[in-house]
Formats: sequence, structure tokens, C-alpha cells
Amino acid sequence: MTAAAKALHIRLPPLPSIKDVIRLYKLRALKELSQNFLMEPRLIDKIVRAAGHIQNHVVCEVGPGPGGITRSIIQKAPRKLILVEKDGRFIPTLELVADACKDKVDVDIIRDDILKINIAQYIPSDTKVDWFETPPPINLIGNLPFSVSTILMIRWLEMISKQEGPWSFGRVRMTLTFQKEVAERMAANISHPQRCRLSVMCQNWCNVNYKFDIPGDAFLPKPDVDVGVVTLTPLKHPIIKLPFKLVEKVVRQIFSMRQKYSIRGAQTLFPEEVREEMALRMYKMAEIDPVTRPFQIANTEFQRICEAYNEIIQKYPEFENYDYRAPKKKSTADDNLVEQPTGDPQLCL
Ligand code: SAM
Repeated sequence: MTAAAKALHIRLPPLPSIKDVIRLYKLRALKELSQNFLMEPRLIDKIVRAAGHIQNHVVCEVGPGPGGITRSIIQKAPRKLILVEKDGRFIPTLELVADACKDKVDVDIIRDDILKINIAQYIPSDTKVDWFETPPPINLIGNLPFSVSTILMIRWLEMISKQEGPWSFGRVRMTLTFQKEVAERMAANISHPQRCRLSVMCQNWCNVNYKFDIPGDAFLPKPDVDVGVVTLTPLKHPIIKLPFKLVEKVVRQIFSMRQKYSIRGAQTLFPEEVREEMALRMYKMAEIDPVTRPFQIANTEFQRICEAYNEIIQKYPEFENYDYRAPKKKSTADDNLVEQPTGDPQLCL
């Protein structure tokens, strides 16, 4: 470490270890909040290092829990730290850490649900940069709770597509953990066994980088699965420059029958009477072979399919709101509602 870098490294006063904090505050992990605490300082620091340069940055940590990652972030001397934690039991331990660095780092502790909160309101306006410039000095970091990680990612992708929330400040970077399998799906390229809807969606709006694995036994309690650390940087230009909902619908339907020819899933974008004809027309316009399997379709090919679908719904607006999954009216006298089959939702994500 150079002398200059050393000077900017914040040394926290002696604090009880994370293990002691958990014991002292009787912080029994709650399964319903996907609480698995990362106990290994070496791995904690590795996650924070994966975020790159964060000194003088505004960092938002999702789910700080007892504060292991929080301490490591503070040591890197950020300008401001925004902590979003749903479980009120952790607030005193986070206040302890905030107090220990109060002269050096501005820490906001927010007891809330990351799925409900608007992080943007806590970010200083002077960090804002143009979307096409290098990313702003803002980072989102989190050892995410498994129960919300995929929902959160999809929600954030939609915000990125609209340049909303933290992304109204520019191309804010993320360093996040997921179940290993989910992390692999996010980064999976064409023909990778894990390629699915999440791969296409993440890669359409972000540069996705699978950084490293964390074995399950580095956590307390040990989860049933290993964990993958992923960094995401929003792209200047998405590959498919169409509204999020449209892209999501097309990609979801095509992956709804993952092992079949992709045209089978594509047909479900259209009402039964015209299904075969319209899907074939869409594939012809996009120059895609109908017998390609969904996981063999490259992002740029999805771009052509989405554009063809968009052209079709401009011409036939009645198809735009067609939803294969919507309950269908039975043509019987009692007018009962029946559910449509949806394919395997697990495989979609
Ligand atoms: N950061 C800590 C670590 O690495 O040891 C804890 C990580 S633990 C996997 C997930 C954390 O997210 C827990 O502290 C949990 O209470 C919190 N959490 C769960 N759901 C949340 C939500 N919807 N919004 C904010 N925090 C949440």
C-alpha cells in the first residue's frame, strides 16, 4: 500500500468482533429474512474489493445485518454510507459502527425494506453525472437476502431501463451476492447450461461479471447452497432498445418452454387462432430459425425478435395486451374461470 493510500484507509477504534456482536445482542438468524452472516474477514474484504474504488464514494449497502461488510466498506473511506436494513434488531449494532466513524464518514441507517424504499432520496445531488459519462461515485453493495435477490434484481433492471432511482444519477455500479446458481444464470452466455430469462434480461441492460464463489460454510448459519459474487455496470446503450415490459414479455414467453423449439414459446405471445402464423411471421422478420432452442438464442437475436414483435403489435394492436397466463373464460354456461398452463416458472428465472 502506498503512503497516500494508507492515509486514506480508515482505522476503526476497537469494536467487538462480529461473532461477539451476534452473541452479545443475541442475534439469532431469522430464516424468513434469509439471514446468513458472512463470518470470514478475508471474504468480506474480497466482496468490498470487487466493488473497485469506493473511496470518497456514496455507498449504499443492502442488508448490512451485524455489520461485517459495513466495517470493511468504512475502512475504504467512503464519503457517505447508506445502510438499508429491514430487521430492527441490527440497528444498535450498526449505530455502534456509525458512531465509531462519525468524524470521517456520514452514515445513514435506514430501517426499511429495500423493495419499498427510494434510495435516491439519500444520495447527494452533486454526485450526479450524465448517463454516457463514466459511472458516478456511487456504489450499491450487498450480501443480499436470498428471498429478495432475484425480485430486487428484476426491479432494479427496470429502473436502470428507465434511468430512475439511483440510476437517475448515472450508471451506478452494483456488487451483489446471489445463490451461486442464480449468479451463474445472470452471467450465462449463449448455450451455457444455465442460460435463461434472467441471463438475457441482465445482459440486455448491464455488463455482468461473475467475480468469485463463496462456499456456504463461510456463513453462519450455513446455507444449503454456495454463493456467487457478481458485479453489474449498466450499459450506455441496451442491446434491445425497447420498453422493459415488452422485452420481459417476449423473453419470458420464449423461455417458458425451455427445452422445446423456441418458436413454441414464441407462439404463446399471440392468441390461439393466429398463434402459429404470427410466431412464424415474427421469426421470419427476425431471421431466426424456428427450431433454435431458447438458450441458443444470442442477445442480438433476441433484439431482432423483440423488434419484430414490436412491429407486429404496432400493426395489430389487439395482440399487445394478450396474456397467455391470464385466466381464460370458459365457454360454458357457468362461466367459470380457468388457469392457463404457464410452462415451468422455475426455469424462467
Ligand atoms: N450483510 C450481512 C452479512 O454479510 O453478514 C448480512 C447478510 S444476510 C444474507 C441478509 C441481510 O438482509 C439480513 O441482515 C436481513 O435482515 C436483511 N434483509 C432481508 N430482507 C431485507 C429487505 N427486504 N430489505 C432490507 N434488508 C433485508
